[in-house]
Amino acid sequence: MQITRRTLLSGAAAGIATAAIRPRMAWAASSFSVGGMEVTTLSDGFLTQPADFMFAPMPQSELAAYLASRGMDRAAPLTPPCNLTLVRHEGRVILFDAGSGTGFMDSVGDLPDALAAMGVDPGDITHVVFTHGHADHLWGVLDDFDEPFFFNAEHLMGRVEYDYWADPATIDTIAQDRVPMAAGAKRRLDLVGEQFTLFEDGAEVLPGVIARATFGHSPGHMSFALADAGQAAMVIGDAILNDHTAFAHPDWPIGADSDTEAAARVRAGLLDQLATDHMTMIGFHLPGGGVGHVERHEGAYRFVPA
Ligand SMILES: [Zn+2]
Repeated sequence: MQITRRTLLSGAAAGIATAAIRPRMAWAASSFSVGGMEVTTLSDGFLTQPADFMFAPMPQSELAAYLASRGMDRAAPLTPPCNLTLVRHEGRVILFDAGSGTGFMDSVGDLPDALAAMGVDPGDITHVVFTHGHADHLWGVLDDFDEPFFFNAEHLMGRVEYDYWADPATIDTIAQDRVPMAAGAKRRLDLVGEQFTLFEDGAEVLPGVIARATFGHSPGHMSFALADAGQAAMVIGDAILNDHTAFAHPDWPIGADSDTEAAARVRAGLLDQLATDHMTMIGFHLPGGGVGHVERHEGAYRFVPA
């Protein structure tokens, strides 16, 4: 066996999982099949966000009443889970998004442990398919030596999204509080370099994996339909961002969306389709491993975990 820095690193990561430093368990939340595709969601941990990051642009008096009805505290920090999707299909091992890595927040970065718990080595991943370039989805592409963590994988991202984060002008035009995220994205895209392949809306990026433009949460956000042998599911990414306001009040603007109006239009279309088709979906920040379906409820929708 050839010992590389990467195998030493993944060994170190496995060691951390058993130490008391990070008591949360690595876990694989849910597995199901879509035809011949074996689909598993993996936890990268959870984000810790100020409530205003989500709630600031919403109609405040209606929001207060709604949150009270759900027993939620308007001021409490939000702690949404981060669910990555792993698909094994015809010899390919496909990861949707790369997680946060070690440089973003203490409460995320569990993906290497979750993969190890499944017996998956970073070198086993053949493709990393990105929904978008935000830190919790992209920053895990590099190891602690700034080399690609999924070193054998082709990395695939929608062209609009890639061009936005790769553009040096983005750092000057993005909201001030997002400058570190833009700088971090550009640095990672530059370092991964030629391992990136770009695709357009509607492309079958891999057999049975069809890209669908869901621009709004980020400028070029993509969702993906998984389709095989007459079955289908959707990897939603952040196009339906939370399990509360996004379903019950899909028209309310969400602070974390970069274009709140476009994101609301996309959300309305997705919810209608998912409820009509009763299609299994995976939401990156939804509870229960993110796997479930959409039901119509009281004039809007609700998320029903699997
Ligand atoms: Zn996210």
